[in-house]
Amino acid sequence: MIVWPIIRNVLKGTGIISVRGFRQWWQSLPDKKRRYFFHSARKKRHELILLITLLGCCFYVYHWKHLQVAPVSGRERFIAFTDYQFEKIMEFNAQKLCANLKEKFLPANHLYYGVVLNTLNVLINANQDISEVKDIKWTVAIVDNPAVNAIVLPTGHIFVDRGLMEFVHDVDQLAFVLAHEMSHAILKHTAENLSRLQLVDYLVISTMTALWALMPNDGIAIVFHWFLNKVVNVLLDLPYSRFLENEADKVGLELAAKACYDIRCGTVFWTMMSLAEQLEGKSKPEWLSTHPSSFKRAELFDCFIHKYSHVRHECKCPPLPEVDPRGILHEMKVKVDNIVTARKTRARIERLKIPLPNHDKDHFSRSLTVDRITGREFSVKVGILPGVKDPDASGDKEEMNELKDKNIENNIEETVINSTSTEQNKKVNK
Ligand SMILES: [Zn+2]
Repeated sequence: MIVWPIIRNVLKGTGIISVRGFRQWWQSLPDKKRRYFFHSARKKRHELILLITLLGCCFYVYHWKHLQVAPVSGRERFIAFTDYQFEKIMEFNAQKLCANLKEKFLPANHLYYGVVLNTLNVLINANQDISEVKDIKWTVAIVDNPAVNAIVLPTGHIFVDRGLMEFVHDVDQLAFVLAHEMSHAILKHTAENLSRLQLVDYLVISTMTALWALMPNDGIAIVFHWFLNKVVNVLLDLPYSRFLENEADKVGLELAAKACYDIRCGTVFWTMMSLAEQLEGKSKPEWLSTHPSSFKRAELFDCFIHKYSHVRHECKCPPLPEVDPRGILHEMKVKVDNIVTARKTRARIERLKIPLPNHDKDHFSRSLTVDRITGREFSVKVGILPGVKDPDASGDKEEMNELKDKNIENNIEETVINSTSTEQNKKVNK
């Protein structure tokens, strides 16, 4: 599997070079010769169809022989290699990643280790009925990285970023993230995704080879080649990745429910993530992302609360705390909406700002002004009231302008926040 990316590129390169040669040879043939080859191919069409059918059957048998049932979700999927092969490959990857991140690992006596180890132990202990949970040797490292993230390797190594520990409010939220990562390893998502990519690669390589043979020149073939890669990425790779993330969310929720964590905290975590993205302006369209949007994940968790309340009940967990942790979300959403609205309003006003004539000395002079009807210059008759600070005289004009702009902006933001809050308060009161 480590050598697969190399084999894939060699196959692509060889395929393209061969068919380019074939195309050039075909284009150089006289019409008579081309007709002769067409005629021969038509005569042997039955043999060709038989060959394609045989290849199809071989592929079907190969696919069927490598189908495995996923634990917990019970879904059937294709995995191209054995557990032993995959373990060896992943051990190599784990060593490489550990060597890269080693310098950033927080020391084992750091406060965060206690929290993470304790939460993981609770999750593992409560899910001993799943053989994969027992078989995997789980280990954890906290990485000194500000990102709100965690990753897991199929070998059971979990890497938690410091940013995630600073972001979560309580152990229940942390439990959902850890359970999600554990689910990826239990469900062998990496093995499944790599196997699928291998199949997609066969399809892409054969289509690209045909494309390079059929296109009239290299320029058009390159454009189509690029387009095909994008289409495969958006229509096959990204939706599949999102599907696996959703499955890990559902299975993770089940693991956390069996460990008696507060199942409502998953919704709180993903809503907070969604709000943070809104504030940072980071959210991108879901169809261009490997993960479902945080907003949709929060919705999904909310939908499953009823189902997993029963799981908690069956596992004889204590009842959920009376105070619903989702209660804080409404207030948080209102605040974030107000900030975002204020920023948008300020940006709109910035765009509309028209420079006043007295900002430009060439067009406006304090001693002379222009009559709008006759166009003649005349002396200014109106004086400035004594006591008014004169920026030209004191030399602090820029400071004055800056102060003025700041005041305007603050007033705008305050007005928008106040007016939105009042509107929302009115709605709530209604
Ligand atoms: Zn994930």
